[in-house]
Amino acid sequence: MISSCWSRNAVHPEPPKSLLSPLVVPEKTLMAPGPSNSSTRVLNAMKNQILGHLHPEICEMMDEIKAGLQYVFQTKNRLTLAISASGHGGMEACLGNILEKGETVLISKCGIWGERAANMATRIGAHVEFLETEPGVAFTLDQLELAVRKHRPTAVFVVHAESSTGMKQPLQGVGEIVHRYGGLLIVDTVASLGGEPFYADAWGVDVVYTGSQKVLGASPGITPVTFSPAAEKKIFERRTQVPVYYWDMTILGDYWSCFDKPTRVYHHTISATLVYGLREALAQLAEEGLRNTWARHAAAAERLEKKLSALGLEFFIPNPENRLKTIVSIKIPDGVDWKVVVDHAMKKYRMEIGGGLGPTVGKIFRIGVMGVNASADHVDRLFGALDEGLRYARRSKL
Ligand SMILES: *Cc1c(COP(=O)(O)O)cnc(C)c1O
Repeated sequence: MISSCWSRNAVHPEPPKSLLSPLVVPEKTLMAPGPSNSSTRVLNAMKNQILGHLHPEICEMMDEIKAGLQYVFQTKNRLTLAISASGHGGMEACLGNILEKGETVLISKCGIWGERAANMATRIGAHVEFLETEPGVAFTLDQLELAVRKHRPTAVFVVHAESSTGMKQPLQGVGEIVHRYGGLLIVDTVASLGGEPFYADAWGVDVVYTGSQKVLGASPGITPVTFSPAAEKKIFERRTQVPVYYWDMTILGDYWSCFDKPTRVYHHTISATLVYGLREALAQLAEEGLRNTWARHAAAAERLEKKLSALGLEFFIPNPENRLKTIVSIKIPDGVDWKVVVDHAMKKYRMEIGGGLGPTVGKIFRIGVMGVNASADHVDRLFGALDEGLRYARRSKL
């Protein structure tokens, strides 16, 4: 017999009422700096049943993803794969595999991402030096060389697309300087890869990561990374183990069959759903062709820039050459409450416009022109919502 004492003390929770009503996911147009919308093809792929993490079909898809990533990174690196995490995981995995306690990393800082990388590098026990510029202003090769010569870093960390400001850091010549002083170049391309020309091998970039959910248009949670032969050598010659097992490329590379070994080794259970989605996102990119994808992003961003200029709005990035084609950032006009504009677009059009981030909070709007949303139609709808929102914000102040 069950004692009454036991049953009196036992908890008999009711099922949560919220879970007894159906799931509701509204359709929104995501034109902040990420995530962006996925194509119908990617969404349909993710409806498929789960497969095991070592089933031959999944392994074949992982090989296809690897080939697709080599194409989009423009690299021959064999250590190219996708980790089971969002972009932050890519940042942590890249820093964590390359850096050891006590080593120096030179981090370019001109928005929030350099700071985030510094936070991670410090946790690893690395010594951080900054190459700092004003938000929205790129560093020059001379400034870089001065800093590299002074600090002789093990690695230099650069953000290609500083999404907190909308700035593109030119990368030609950067790898050469870093290598001349014996360092490795790590580049964050989370907000640019696929939408801006990028050549890992030709530009001498040793370590790159990107995001699956921005230009590539897959789901967040499966982040592409690639390591050059020099980076791979550094990882295998470390004095200490990679501090986090989950990011350890010496084991993860075996799961992704990167090291020409006959069998794959279980490292963790990859999300089959995310594999399907990323595979299809890369297939769409391969069908369109990188050059066409870059051109589509450039055309969409330029169309938007023209409309914004005509409205008298000012760009946040002073040098037109450093304005990203994936994120257009404009100053918030005097007397406009940015939150009213953003809320208006969401309420009336289910359209997401980004506000500022880090040093740009309250100063700019950030408009993501990424993936399937990099089209004339999206740009026109976005512009309509923004224009109307600005009028509404000015009126509601009267
Ligand atoms: C979005 C973004 C990240 C972080 O990616 P998550 O997927 O949100 O973790 C990192 N770097 C840059 C430049 C980004 O734009």
